[in-house]
Amino acid sequence: MDVTIVGGGMVGMAQAALLAVRYPQLRISLLEASPVTPQVRPDTYDARVVALTEASRELLEETGAWSLIAGKRECPYTQMRVWDAEGTGSVYFDCRDVKLPNLGHIVENNVILQALRQRIDELPNVDLVTGFKLESWWRDCGLWHLQSRNPNRGQVEGLEEQAPVLTTRLLVGADGVRSRVRDLLRIRTRDVEYQQTALVCVARCEKSHQNTAWQRFLDTGPLAFLPLSGLGDDRHCAVVWSADDSLARELVMLDDKAFALNLEKAFESRLGGIESVGERFSFALRARHAEAYYGPGAVLVGDAAHSIHPLAGQGVNLGMMDARVLAEEVGRALERNISPAHASVLARYQRRRRGENASTLKAMSTFKSLFGAGDLHWRWLRNTGLSMVDASPMLKKRIIMRAMSV
Ligand SMILES: Cc1cc2nc3c(=O)[nH]c(=O)nc-3n(C[C@H](O)[C@H](O)[C@H](O)COP(=O)(O)OP(=O)(O)OC[C@H]3O[C@@H](n4cnc5c(N)ncnc54)[C@H](O)[C@@H]3O)c2cc1C
Repeated sequence: MDVTIVGGGMVGMAQAALLAVRYPQLRISLLEASPVTPQVRPDTYDARVVALTEASRELLEETGAWSLIAGKRECPYTQMRVWDAEGTGSVYFDCRDVKLPNLGHIVENNVILQALRQRIDELPNVDLVTGFKLESWWRDCGLWHLQSRNPNRGQVEGLEEQAPVLTTRLLVGADGVRSRVRDLLRIRTRDVEYQQTALVCVARCEKSHQNTAWQRFLDTGPLAFLPLSGLGDDRHCAVVWSADDSLARELVMLDDKAFALNLEKAFESRLGGIESVGERFSFALRARHAEAYYGPGAVLVGDAAHSIHPLAGQGVNLGMMDARVLAEEVGRALERNISPAHASVLARYQRRRRGENASTLKAMSTFKSLFGAGDLHWRWLRNTGLSMVDASPMLKKRIIMRAMSV
């Protein structure tokens, strides 16, 4: 194989599809540990969603996946309202201020995964191997040899039945926050424990979500209501409630009715009553950043390289930009007749992405601390800051344009 991507999440699949579409001469394999294909439920929304920026949408469009999503199970949001629970500060963003049709799209993770999966199946130069959990490897003569204990045998050229080994020139680790590729490369990470847990679920509200992304900052963490569409009404929102661990533990224990009441109160009934809530899932939150993005013939993308607090909904968007930049560097190498696995190619990728991701991670940690600070001085500061942003059309435009291009 020319390129092997380990991890068939949103970033790994987007990476495989992008490389395959841009460079039909490359033979690409995609190894995914799970044997199960992500399914979109036809009658219920999934609780896990992402807010895609325009830059990520464009990338999905180039892969051919966006046309499978557009106008079906995605909700363009045209406005965003952010406010502080402890004061009067608030910011209102409107896509008309930047003369754009929307500020982004809320899409269920499974909808993106299924669309990408369909494209991967259609692309002749990508082989997907499911049920292949990378366990170990060795390297000789500039090639990686990858091994799994439980492969789904015989789906890919070069994978032998008895001793399944896959050989590749460039290895891309897209295997998420607990990346095996990163561990095998002995790349260390810098971690910040936020001591918060994100609870996610779908809520049906009394009033229309108005195609608006809502976020209220509480002392205990941010609470977001993200608009959903595709199943007939405009009253369903994906809820992402990041709460200090102790509060999250209490919220998890509540029955649906009590949870809905707490949710409505925490959200100041902005969309009226909460009529129902779906299944709840929880995720421990931590920031994690790999100290290096590459090793010999191997490179990290997406959550394998960085994971971030969901308060600004940028995690997968940063990963998509990693995929785009890596594809550009692979293209540049091919033009110059250099191996895409050459250290100079991977070092350029790291230079272009690591600093950028580090500043976003830092900004999110600062926001998290600023909005979590309970004392009066900080409250005054953040409320004044929000009001100042709101009063400055120029600043708002710059924030929107920056957020959309991530
Ligand atoms: C509550 C919450 C809300 C979020 N909201 C947003 C949002 O609004 N916007 C946004 O941009 N981001 C958001 N994120 C972040 C986003 O979900 C992640 O950044 C994104 O899912 C990372 O994608 P990935 O493909 O890099 O990793 P993953 O989704 O973790 O995929 C990794 C894949 O690798 C596979 N794998 C793992 N180990 C192996 C192995 N050894 N061998 C083979 N395969 C392996 C796994 O099975 C998995 O399929 C949110 C995250 C959370 C927790």
